[in-house]
Amino acid sequence: MASITQRLARIAPYLKNGRRALALAGLGAVVGASTEPMIPALLQPLLDKGFTSRELPLWSIPLALIALFAVRGLAGFVAQYGLASAAQNGVLQLRQAMFDRLLAADPGLYTHSSASQLTNTLVYEVQQGTMQLIGALLTLVKDALTLIALLGYLLWLNWQLTLFVGLLFPALAFVMRTLGRRLHRLTISVQGATDELAYVVEENVLAWRIVRLHGAERAQAARFTDRAQALRRLLLKSVVASATLSPLTQMMAAFALSAVIAVALWQAGSGGSSVGSFVAFITAMLLLVQPIKHLSDVMAPITRGLAAVERGVDLVEGNAIEQGGAHAPARADGEIELRDVSLRYRDDAGPALSALNLHIRRGQTVALVGPSGAGKSTLVNLLPRFIEPSGGEIRLDGRPLRDWDMRALRRQFALVSQDVVLFNDSVAANVALGEAIDEVRVREALRAANLLDFVGTLPQGLQTRVGHNGSQLSGGQRQRVAIARAVYKDAPILILDEATSALDAESERAVQDALERLMKGRTTLVIAHRLATIEHADRVLVLESGRLVEQGSHAELLARDGLYARLHAMQFRT
Ligand code: ADP
Repeated sequence: MASITQRLARIAPYLKNGRRALALAGLGAVVGASTEPMIPALLQPLLDKGFTSRELPLWSIPLALIALFAVRGLAGFVAQYGLASAAQNGVLQLRQAMFDRLLAADPGLYTHSSASQLTNTLVYEVQQGTMQLIGALLTLVKDALTLIALLGYLLWLNWQLTLFVGLLFPALAFVMRTLGRRLHRLTISVQGATDELAYVVEENVLAWRIVRLHGAERAQAARFTDRAQALRRLLLKSVVASATLSPLTQMMAAFALSAVIAVALWQAGSGGSSVGSFVAFITAMLLLVQPIKHLSDVMAPITRGLAAVERGVDLVEGNAIEQGGAHAPARADGEIELRDVSLRYRDDAGPALSALNLHIRRGQTVALVGPSGAGKSTLVNLLPRFIEPSGGEIRLDGRPLRDWDMRALRRQFALVSQDVVLFNDSVAANVALGEAIDEVRVREALRAANLLDFVGTLPQGLQTRVGHNGSQLSGGQRQRVAIARAVYKDAPILILDEATSALDAESERAVQDALERLMKGRTTLVIAHRLATIEHADRVLVLESGRLVEQGSHAELLARDGLYARLHAMQFRT
């Protein structure tokens, strides 16, 4: 386990831009802390010279007090603002780094973390963690400085008495801490006992039939009594602990104070101290309590805050950026070849694909069919390198995918899948996704997708926002936006994942027409569920458990009377 300083050093680079604000905050903290002893220090002349001997001008102490608090207020503001500014700068840096990494990370990131987990870290944890961390660091610096300033003042005022108090304090702190811990432990036990009781009630409510059938009422009642009594005992114990804490503390404080008074009176008897210095001493001593309390509680938020921020840093540093090659033609021909391709998602799982060999010529339409889990999605995900094969090689236009520049490779594919992802932006921006918006081409794409008439009826036409994930659109419309997107992209290879869910007949026809137009002149791989698609495909590939078991035209495969014929009989029996 790395030490706190090592862990802080890891997140320090993200605070680089906030160095000046941090320095300013430090200055504010120093000034603020040094004003702390001045409060008791003002009391001494007030009592000795103001009330007792009336040597001071009337307004001097009140004015000094106002000035003191003005300085304190300003210093406090600077410290808090400086720190917050540095912190927010850091959050911004880290968030940006995280989002950049999300966009560029190796796709493995998305298989081992969930969307909600990533969102939570990026949006909430980093922010809350930083605030916690920074708040705790501010306390640490401010209160440590205050403590030093007050102790210095006390020693200067009356070092004998200070040393005497110095002996009392640790004893007091020890007793308080022990009692506090016991109370904390008891609170946790009470929580546990309450859960146990709730558990018994819940079981009996859910399983009342079984309890009655088996005549288990008595046993259950005994269980309940047992838990309820345990809870009662613990609750009373914790009341004893918390009710003794406060009088005990007060007694100890009274003892300590009495001892201090006794020593001070004894010193005064020998001419050592004045009323003013005694009051100043007591005040400064009481002012010590707060910073000591704060400092003893500062470690928990530092550790918690650090852990949250570190999850953000891990996201950036723990995920490699995906690497492509240098081959970057503007447009591929669209010839695809798989040689002995195999893939395992996990070492302990069976192969999702094994020894797949395949050659798809440019412009061909290939239908993938097979039972669920056969590896169809896996196969199409390999092509834009969303996953890497465990063995074998995939080539596009005769070049291994590894040689292709990542952006250039992905330019060659358009995807129309069942789950259409839409961004909360205008219709035009959703169609042109990632490219400059050319309204003329957007309209053409929408027309090709049988969607132009519909968009014409929207309040702001092309500029209408589609809502979060296209909530304003129907299923068929969403699919046609995806088709328009693919038309706009005009990539040489099309990957189609046909919808299994039934659209209404009219949308279905609109979607189907648009798709047929889109497929013309492109290499198309389609995960096919419709007979029409399969019949029109140049070739049908039948996958089962990651193996290519049959291939050929629809008619050839039917004649062979194998898996395809069986699947066909099951699916398209009408
Ligand atoms: P299909 O698209 O034909 O229904 P898939 O390609 O989705 O089949 O799945 C093939 C096999 O790989 C299945 O056994 C599935 O459980 C497994 N699989 C798919 N995706 C993952 C993943 N992200 N992690 C682990 N296993 C997966």
